Amino acid sequence: MNVPFLDLGRGFRELQPELESAVLESMRTGWYILGKDVETFESDYAAYCEAAQCVSVANGLDALRIGLLALGVGRGDEVIVPAHTFIATWLAVSQCGATPVAVEPDASTCTIDPARVEAAVTPRTKAIVPVHLYGQPADMGAILAIARAHGLKVVEDAAQAHGARFDGRRIGAHGDVVAWSFYPGKNLGALGDGGAITTDDPEIADRVRVLRNYGSRVKYVNDVQGFNSRLDPLQAAALRVRLSHLDEWNARRVRAASLYQAAFEQAGITIPRQAPRTEHVWHLYVVRTPRRDELQRHLEAAGIGTLIHYPIPPHRQQAYASAGYGSGDFPITEALAREVLSLPMGPQLTDEELNRVVAAVRDFGGG
Ligand SMILES: *Cc1c(COP(=O)(O)O)cnc(C)c1O
Repeated sequence: MNVPFLDLGRGFRELQPELESAVLESMRTGWYILGKDVETFESDYAAYCEAAQCVSVANGLDALRIGLLALGVGRGDEVIVPAHTFIATWLAVSQCGATPVAVEPDASTCTIDPARVEAAVTPRTKAIVPVHLYGQPADMGAILAIARAHGLKVVEDAAQAHGARFDGRRIGAHGDVVAWSFYPGKNLGALGDGGAITTDDPEIADRVRVLRNYGSRVKYVNDVQGFNSRLDPLQAAALRVRLSHLDEWNARRVRAASLYQAAFEQAGITIPRQAPRTEHVWHLYVVRTPRRDELQRHLEAAGIGTLIHYPIPPHRQQAYASAGYGSGDFPITEALAREVLSLPMGPQLTDEELNRVVAAVRDFGGG
């Protein structure tokens, strides 16, 4: 028996009849761009996120980019981003013509370190983009206080945090804009690409609605130079089905994480730490050890799939060579890139599979 890192087929099969009939019904409406299925999903998701507004877009990168643009981020602006994140967080800033200013994470939670955010603020800073990495909210209390003190906007990258909470409130409108991805492997995943923004501000929502659809409010009347970035109605139909199961699926992730946490207490590896005031939804279960490559090979030999999130930080990517960063510029981030390993995590893992992972990791610690 092998334990896959992620098997999207299982997640599909569990809800197959519901998903197939929802997509089939949508297909039969004869309406294929925006429309009722998209609107219904948007209002369902806004309600779920405890946000006043949801506007869907084509993917998570667009949600970040269009969210930043809707807040007026552009050329000459600096935007504070985590050094330790998926590159999309940085790309969205660059694609607005602004400059990503990287800040190291808190080594124990892996989310952006508020003390370092404060130190990175300059007169050109326009916004902060905290990432709720691995499913755990960043320290929004401290980040919002810094934003308020300096007059900055906050765009949350919530691509990994569907259903998570900070201070008892769902991620969805703590900051000015929250950007979501519905990439298939996320906690709330479509059957293809998808994304959205949520916000409490109807004017920001309106700007995103116009930007996602050619800058147009009325067909063939274009107010601004917008994009074509719309959620497909078939994906919206599938997402509505998935949303109705999200809390239950997240609960299974929490259960799997608790099992891992208890089992790895003495396993000779660093286990994830839960930050106060947060409810974690365990998009990923990420352990840390200086013997990471060895552990990965050991698990592979035992038939257990793992991944690294992320092996090369954005500042060390060729894509950002022109920014002039060097090795050693972000030592905490670079150490994480060398030492983190994501173990199998998801709502469809069986107890037998979880126990196999536990046994193999413990076996490594003992060896
Ligand atoms: C997945 C992800 C994105 C991008 O989402 P896409 O839908 O793939 O464009 C952005 N940020 C983070 C942290 C992600 O994990």
